[in-house]
Amino acid sequence: MTGRETAYRPADSARADQLLFGGPLVYDFGFARHDGKAGTASVSQWLRSLPAPLAIVLTLAARVDRAALTQVLLAELGQGLARAFLLLAANRALLQLFAGAPTPQRITAALPALAAIGAVSALSALLSALSTAATGRLEPRIENAVTQEILHHAVRAELEAMEDEGFHRILDSARFAADYAKRMIGQGVAVLNSLIGLIAAGGVLAVLDWRLMPLLILIAAPRAWGSVRTARRRYLSVQTWLTHIRAINALLGLLTSKDAAAEVRVHQLGPFLVDQYQAMARRAEAEQTRLARERAGTTLLASTLSGAATLATYAVLLLLLLNGQVAMAVAGTAALAIRTGVGSIGTLVSQINTVYDSSLYVADLAELRQAGPRRAIPTGGDPIPVGPALLELKDITYTYQGRTTPAVRQVSLSVAPGQVVALVGANGAGKTTLVKIICGLLRADGGTMQWAGVDFTGADRENWFGRIALLGQDFERWPLSARCNVLLGDVERPDDDEGITEAARQAGALAAVEALPHGWDTIITRGYLRSAELSGGQWQRLGLARTMFRAKAALVIADEPTAALDPASEIDTFAKLRALTADGTSVLLITHRLAATRLADHIYVINDGTVTEAGSHQDLLAAPLVPGGYRDLFQRQATEYGTATVLPPRTPNDAAAATEVS
Ligand code: ATP
Repeated sequence: MTGRETAYRPADSARADQLLFGGPLVYDFGFARHDGKAGTASVSQWLRSLPAPLAIVLTLAARVDRAALTQVLLAELGQGLARAFLLLAANRALLQLFAGAPTPQRITAALPALAAIGAVSALSALLSALSTAATGRLEPRIENAVTQEILHHAVRAELEAMEDEGFHRILDSARFAADYAKRMIGQGVAVLNSLIGLIAAGGVLAVLDWRLMPLLILIAAPRAWGSVRTARRRYLSVQTWLTHIRAINALLGLLTSKDAAAEVRVHQLGPFLVDQYQAMARRAEAEQTRLARERAGTTLLASTLSGAATLATYAVLLLLLLNGQVAMAVAGTAALAIRTGVGSIGTLVSQINTVYDSSLYVADLAELRQAGPRRAIPTGGDPIPVGPALLELKDITYTYQGRTTPAVRQVSLSVAPGQVVALVGANGAGKTTLVKIICGLLRADGGTMQWAGVDFTGADRENWFGRIALLGQDFERWPLSARCNVLLGDVERPDDDEGITEAARQAGALAAVEALPHGWDTIITRGYLRSAELSGGQWQRLGLARTMFRAKAALVIADEPTAALDPASEIDTFAKLRALTADGTSVLLITHRLAATRLADHIYVINDGTVTEAGSHQDLLAAPLVPGGYRDLFQRQATEYGTATVLPPRTPNDAAAATEVS
């Protein structure tokens, strides 16, 4: 232990990466699949992949606000025409100014063209403002529409799809489509604007003298090359940098997290982690310096090339002028048109990478649109009656994707109205899987399941979910208010404060909620105003309250509902679950505490995915003693914890059994 100070060497960054993360920290989230693509895509790749995402965004824009889209398109088109008109008007003004007449006459003759330039410039500014306003209106609407679409697919997907790596990656990545679809509007407008500007400049040059067209290409080519190179380098630098930033952020998160604070102090991890951080930060600094130098070099080269091309262009123009092949006015207008065209090409090219980057994420939406309906929970089907009913499973078998052996094999069981049925078995026996099948979350590969005589395969899944209240093993600790944590059991009764309080009382959670600093309005997590924490056991009671608030549920499933409870609360909770059956509600209880199973009307012992024993507590205790069997486990637990004498017996027979084993 004391050798730590001497054994520890200051960290270098590669060693820090290796030590903390086992190598460089590379994201494996869905969105990370696009990392770096925009920096390496070829122009043909770019051209091939752009139309589909562009069509998505345009169709969405037309759907959410057709008027705004039309306004943007017309305003941009108008600006392009205005630019062409301005160039031609400038040509006209120059012609008048360079004419042979006396100066006052030349100025008077040029006045109409100059006035038209003023008016059209003002109109162009107005059109630009109209385009900006309409873009601003479109962007949030598109973002909302895409977000809604993604949420729709996310909440409707089968649980199996959510657990499927491929589908989950699409969903994870598509989350960003909303933001990128929004950005594509602005980027698209910029591209459209520069494209129209380019066409206007090219068109004017063609009208003036077609031989001037190649000049535009001559000057634009090095500019375009320089812009692409700079943009790609910058993009790739950010990618390199991102990997490191993520590692640093992960470490910063650990160093400042409340959860890790105790261990950081007791295990004296502070200096060690700060040292790793410094090593990473130094490497990040060095990387930034290198990238800045590289970028400066690229920019210098691009500017030199573009400057040389500009000089050459003007030299050619001068030559044509001196040879009398073009008039002075035409040369002046051509210079203006070339400036406009080159500016447009600069914007166009610098937007290429950003548009391509955005299009990758918007394309995820297209993928989700295809996969979403295929993986969605079907709607409609046979209705399921409300109220207590019989649940029957026959020969149910289920194998997880990627597994060779079934997690549940040929299980038959039934839960009658008003019954408490217990599922017991070792870790990994298949109990939770069975619960997910019963809930309608996993679809069995074989066998049948019926509720009130309605077969699951044809049943209305909404109805099926609606009949069940689930307190899962990993029930959700929503970082929301205490009230909302109960309300989420039945969102159809958002104002039923009395029902919420009653459910909390039933579950034994009321005292803990009332002790919170803001009572029911306290947000149960850390880091917000009005927030506070609950203990593990208090959370479990609140989870139970949520389950009990689910009014239409005729089957309450509690998977390890007392794992975090103290012995007295555990007994109390089992009694409360039993009390639920008074109105015919059935309870399916999954537990490792065999003392509690005595409260059950029927017990199924699951081993290795299949039912190995079934019957009442008395039946199972009367069975021959098999190592690992119910009787063996019950006796061992009873001896170890003395639970058989702690739990109040339900029947005289239970009392006899309890005395026998204790
Ligand atoms: P415990 O008492 O520990 O909660 P359990 O009886 O509830 O265990 P299950 O969670 O149903 O057991 O697991 C049954 C088997 O299925 C185990 O072998 C487990 O590894 C496997 N399993 C569970 N969930 C998945 C999953 N999502 N994908 C693949 N295999 C799974």
